[in-house]
Amino acid sequence: MPRDPVLRGPEPGDEPPDPSESARSRAEPADGIDDGFDLDDDRLDDRLRPLSLDEVVGQTKVVDRLRIVLEAARLRGDPLSHLLLDGPPGIGKTTLAMVLPRELGVDVQITSGPSLTAPKDLLPYLTNASRGSVLFIDEIHRLPPTVEEFIYPAMEDFRIDITLGEGLNARTINMPLEPFTVIGATTRSGMLTAPLRDRFVNREHLDFYDVDDVIEIIRRNAKKLKTELEEGAAVAIARRSRGVPRKANNLLRWTRDFADAGRHPAITDALAAEALEMLEVDPIGLDSLDRKYLQALAGVFGGGPAGMQAIAHSMNIAGETIEDEVEPFLLRVGFVQRTPRGRMITAAALSHLGLTLDGESDQSQGQLFD
Ligand code: ADP
Repeated sequence: MPRDPVLRGPEPGDEPPDPSESARSRAEPADGIDDGFDLDDDRLDDRLRPLSLDEVVGQTKVVDRLRIVLEAARLRGDPLSHLLLDGPPGIGKTTLAMVLPRELGVDVQITSGPSLTAPKDLLPYLTNASRGSVLFIDEIHRLPPTVEEFIYPAMEDFRIDITLGEGLNARTINMPLEPFTVIGATTRSGMLTAPLRDRFVNREHLDFYDVDDVIEIIRRNAKKLKTELEEGAAVAIARRSRGVPRKANNLLRWTRDFADAGRHPAITDALAAEALEMLEVDPIGLDSLDRKYLQALAGVFGGGPAGMQAIAHSMNIAGETIEDEVEPFLLRVGFVQRTPRGRMITAAALSHLGLTLDGESDQSQGQLFD
């Protein structure tokens, strides 16, 4: 299996790449065919990603703790302790995982749980890890058990046990590794086995951002994209971003495309409002997938209770997408309730969308919302 590249730490005098240049060239398909607008397309993210801890907006408690861990590692000349980052998609886990080795000036290798199907897939990463370098494993909750067991001694004692031969002739070789750091990222920390979780000395949870932090991220990224953005436009985009920087980036990109296509030099408040309306993201950030979910719950399941998989099936969409990207926000804004018998729509959701519970009598509605 081809390995992902090893990224070198920064050299003195390194210039950060020009974000506007590559963002534009990557955003425009070479064949001129637009593959449609995808709210979760993160082709631009590498260019908008903060390069140092100072550029990371919000998550102040997490950042403060990471600064201490970094400083201690620097002073002692030790590798960073293994770190687990958990939180919803697009919240900054990869960003932090890339910033830390950059701050330390060490190499980083990148892989992900699903691409490591057997210990042999992990082996080259471990043997290539230089002293103090970082191995970033995205979606670490999806590591197969055999790979998980293989990584334990690597993380704990910086050694691996390799079995050669079979049956009576089998021998186990103990191979030492350079001390290195695993940074794991997961959207489902609950799915991690206890032994794996315990091997992470530092564990940080990244939470949704408040609107002010998202506004700040949008302002900074508009500058990186060399786009002029009015204050009201930044606020309107932030309100629709659901506290998720990746969503903010993508909405910013869309409004910028909208402005560019109309030959407008800046994203004004009015232009942003028009662009966001066209995207069908409503003022509190509900997108068409959220509405489809709520409509299915209200229409097909009479408001619930309904199992998550059943709702996902009726929408013809993966259960994981619903669980990771739709429900957390709907639960947060109080549009859905999780009960032992399944998901239920709330009165707030029905009134926000102007929906009724198809096929439900007044009496059962009363029971639902009492
Ligand atoms: P995750 O790994 O959690 O899915 P990412 O780290 O890829 O999320 O974040 C997506 C994008 O959001 C980044 O490329 C970056 O532009 C932006 N971003 C995320 N967190 C921050 C932050 N704290 N400050 C500034 N930008 C951020």
